[in-house]
Amino acid sequence: MATEAYNPFENAQAQFDGVAETLGLESGIRELLRRPMKEIHFTIPVKMDDGTTKVFQAFRFKHNDARGPAKGGIRFHPHETADTVRALSMWMTWKCAVVDIPLGGGKGGVICDPHNLSLAEQERLCRGYARQLYHQLGPNLDVPAPDVMTNGQHMLWILDEYETISGGRFPGMITGKPVGMGGSLGRTEATGYGVIYILKDLLRQIGMDPANTTASFQGFGNVAEYAASMYSELGGKVIAVSCWNQKDGKAYTFKKAGGCNIAELVSLKDSFGSIDKDKAQGLGYELLPGDAWLSQDVDILVPAALENQITPAVFPSISKQVKIICEAANGPTTPDCDKLIQERNIILLPDFLCNAGGVTCSYFEQVQCNMNYFWDKKEVLEKLEYTMTKAFRAVYELSKEQNLYMRDAAYTIAIKRVANAVKLRGWV
Ligand code: NAD
Repeated sequence: MATEAYNPFENAQAQFDGVAETLGLESGIRELLRRPMKEIHFTIPVKMDDGTTKVFQAFRFKHNDARGPAKGGIRFHPHETADTVRALSMWMTWKCAVVDIPLGGGKGGVICDPHNLSLAEQERLCRGYARQLYHQLGPNLDVPAPDVMTNGQHMLWILDEYETISGGRFPGMITGKPVGMGGSLGRTEATGYGVIYILKDLLRQIGMDPANTTASFQGFGNVAEYAASMYSELGGKVIAVSCWNQKDGKAYTFKKAGGCNIAELVSLKDSFGSIDKDKAQGLGYELLPGDAWLSQDVDILVPAALENQITPAVFPSISKQVKIICEAANGPTTPDCDKLIQERNIILLPDFLCNAGGVTCSYFEQVQCNMNYFWDKKEVLEKLEYTMTKAFRAVYELSKEQNLYMRDAAYTIAIKRVANAVKLRGWV
């Protein structure tokens, strides 16, 4: 899923190298942390419904597990690349470290398009993934989760295959399972809510009332829906939301200057996060080009869809009113744009901190599975808000103390924690 112009792994390495240099990390640690420690490239033969066999290329990478078992999603995508998986496994290490949960970074993927696979074929693919990786996965080794185009059902098939081979029940070997089958309440909302717990605390720190702010979102999928809902509940006004329209093969921005009604927009979206444009126009939403979300006169921009969206090429179109960029997506800003953001004094909430609510709740799911005792939603969300706010405060305070860009402050905390674990283990 690398876009042509920007390679996500090179982006991830560039971000790491900059902070490693500032921290004066010794060369052995740098070498270790700037790439995954283990890469498994494998193939999965799948018997198709028509009797033929198709062979799918798959990956599972572990960036670093010095602080605990590796954790990371499995993506199904026709344009998945090894470099995307490398970058995402690296970001997972920093994400777990910055929120201080005892897990490392991993990631997996299969080059496939689930739209073109029957459910039975998807099940055989998932079972094949578990069979091939049986010895590498486990609650104490590497714990997968859903990601782009994978869901709780895929996770259950992988779990079932793993348990069939092992002959026991190990619900903590995978997360993102459906509630009632080892899943945690609150997981669906966790990433979006986590974004807003942090935004809320930032606004408090800088003396802004959420009710006096406006925002524009890119994306209206799982993350954006729950982030926009909670932001609206705090009184914030969502002026615009953009999303992809599969039928037209392009994105649109839906705008209401007086503020979008999020529940109304949710009722107009399909399971892929696309809003029905005719119905929305019927309800008074203005239909604008896909990139118009970026140029709205708002206080807060929330990229919550794709990587590489905020680049030097589009930066001039960002309104001078924007004070905060809240990176809900993974890698929405290219490294060459960070300087421009800093020059304009825009506060940036970096992706691996901002969207860490998902993995934090996955960690809670694993803890609940290991205890075989499940918390109610209120308890999960209270623990989530506590963890996210604590992580944000540490990053914010460091950024103030040392006059650091918030991405660099978050990296400083995360990299130091991982480097320390590596040293304590005697690896370097
Ligand atoms: P999703 O698939 O539920 O939604 C994606 C949204 O992006 C959809 O509304 C889609 O229409 C929109 N979109 C796609 N292309 C677009 C374009 N060109 N212009 C505008 N909108 C476009 O995905 P999600 O789970 O909400 O994830 C969004 C981002 O957050 C991704 O970067 C993902 O890696 C990251 N993330 C997700 C989670 C999670 O728990 N879901 C956790 C951490 C990070």
